[in-house]
Amino acid sequence: MTPAGRFAPSPSGELHVGNLRTAMLAWLFARSSGREFLLRVEDLDRARAGAEAEQLRDLAAIGITWDGAVVRQTDRGGVYAKAISRLTAAGLTYECFCTRREIQEAPSAPHAPQGAYPGTCRNLDSAERELKRSMRPAAIRLRSAVAEYTVNDVLHGAFTGVVDDFVLRRNDGVTAYNLAVVVDDAAQGIDQVVRGDDLLASTPRQAYLALLLNIPTPEYAHVPLVVNSDGARLAKRDGAVTLGALARAGVPVGDVRDHLLRSLGLPAGTLEQALVSFRPDRLPRKTWVWPGQGLAGGLP
Ligand code: GLU
Repeated sequence: MTPAGRFAPSPSGELHVGNLRTAMLAWLFARSSGREFLLRVEDLDRARAGAEAEQLRDLAAIGITWDGAVVRQTDRGGVYAKAISRLTAAGLTYECFCTRREIQEAPSAPHAPQGAYPGTCRNLDSAERELKRSMRPAAIRLRSAVAEYTVNDVLHGAFTGVVDDFVLRRNDGVTAYNLAVVVDDAAQGIDQVVRGDDLLASTPRQAYLALLLNIPTPEYAHVPLVVNSDGARLAKRDGAVTLGALARAGVPVGDVRDHLLRSLGLPAGTLEQALVSFRPDRLPRKTWVWPGQGLAGGLP
């Protein structure tokens, strides 16, 4: 399989300029290293009708090209089930019947990191399990043998984060993101993962799961997010933050692309032109503030 990078949006709404900037970076990382670039629609959760088509349209408008067909996670239930069966056969999963509330209220295990699953259902005996099964459907959790794991990131260096008994399949039957992402990246030959740095904290869980599934760890680059002038994550309420809204405010897509490229220290122009100057080690490491106000006069 040809080595590849990817962009994997959740089709919950239109992409905003922060998502587009991350997609551009993922494209630049992949193309500058001779990789293919793939798109995967992460529609297991949070899908809104029509959003996928809007997202693909906006990615193309900003100059992103991709190889092969777009993969959709809702088409891949069988593959996720197989991966979970393999882990179960190896004794690496267990059923969990806890509600969110029960987890919040449970005393945390000694020395457990904050937010980690307290292990309530880890050692149920078969009678307890039978009783709980009759009351509510089970989620499937990983039986983790570690409490933390270290990954290497191109921009962050070594990063150690929590690995608890995280959920692989929710109790409504939906595959959890952490399982799907690992299985899909492997199946698509993706050996480079470039995404927003809000996902860095989940990466040790994913890399540990990859290890258990005998999947090589990809190269990771977690890139800074775009924020509003209050330093908060960019959202719809920040005004014209999508290509559609910007166009309505009189800002053409080429200007948005140029502005995003300049925010990365790259010259304005096409993405192909930007490839020539792209150097991962020279990328800005801080969040970037979207100039929300005064857009009617064009971008600064
Ligand atoms: N679907 C995730 C999101 O839109 C991204 C997952 C990933 O890149 O691994 O936040």
